[in-house]
Amino acid sequence: MHMENQHQTTMFQPVGGMGMIGKAFGKQVEGLVRYGAKVTKIDQSGGAVTVTYTDIASGSERTTKADYCVCTIPLGILSQIDLDASAGLRAAIAAVPYSNSVKVGLEMKTRFWEEENAIYGGISFTDQPISMISYPSGGLHSDGPGVILGAYMYGPSSYRFAGMTPEQRIAGALEQGAVFHPGRYKEQFTTGAAVAWSRVPFTLGCCAQWNEATRKEHYQTLVAVDDRIVLAGEHASYIGCWMEGALLSSLDAITRLHKRALEA
Ligand SMILES: Cc1cc2nc3c(=O)[nH]c(=O)nc-3n(C[C@H](O)[C@H](O)[C@H](O)COP(=O)(O)OP(=O)(O)OC[C@H]3O[C@@H](n4cnc5c(N)ncnc54)[C@H](O)[C@@H]3O)c2cc1C
Repeated sequence: MHMENQHQTTMFQPVGGMGMIGKAFGKQVEGLVRYGAKVTKIDQSGGAVTVTYTDIASGSERTTKADYCVCTIPLGILSQIDLDASAGLRAAIAAVPYSNSVKVGLEMKTRFWEEENAIYGGISFTDQPISMISYPSGGLHSDGPGVILGAYMYGPSSYRFAGMTPEQRIAGALEQGAVFHPGRYKEQFTTGAAVAWSRVPFTLGCCAQWNEATRKEHYQTLVAVDDRIVLAGEHASYIGCWMEGALLSSLDAITRLHKRALEA
């Protein structure tokens, strides 16, 4: 296809949402993944790696042992875990702050933007804190409710919204988004949901925020094998805040670990 700036290039979306990508990977390793296991300690003494975790369903503490560990826990959490690693790696983990993001989903009784405004998917931008609203690109012309992405924020606005209750975030998104559809937006609204990534306990932020100075001082230490542990994830890549970076870093981590194991 000829690509021009006036022509939207083809985009694919996973059926059922982005979460299906992780689930599809999960299927390939069925039986090998222990879900609901919150890691609290990583020890690498005695020629092995011992990971202590809380089994969330039962609340009981358990351990598991292996020769090596590829650790994909985001840095903001890893910095608070009891981690047996070199001072250099621990300093690298602590040196990288995370950005934040907030999204608000708003369910509307009907897809009035299609019927009344001929809007089919896409984004409307605003200079208000919500930054944008985005219309569903699937289920076009279908009856019944539709969910609008009512806010997608980074930077200071995202922290302001993260400090609100979910109900306040939804009310703010409704108020600000109503500029695009006066009279219809609030009247059609039924229910909403809001996520502030800085408050999600399993990410504590959106993505790692490297800069030139931290890359120079800490990056090579962060991605190096530390005795029997190697880190992987978007934070251990140069394609930060992107799934591609997370995936490539895992391949890189395995290659480094394999090399280290052969040397041992
Ligand atoms: C709002 C938002 C929009 C984004 N949009 C895009 C996009 O359009 N395109 C794109 O490519 N990327 C996007 N990204 C980035 C993408 O989601 C990440 O780069 C990717 O998920 C990082 O993968 P990861 O494996 O490094 O970390 P994660 O996916 O965060 O995985 C880390 C895992 O560690 C687990 N964990 C945390 N603590 C513990 C613990 N103590 N014990 C056990 N497990 C633990 C977590 O539960 C989680 O499963 C977006 C991110 C956000 C937040």
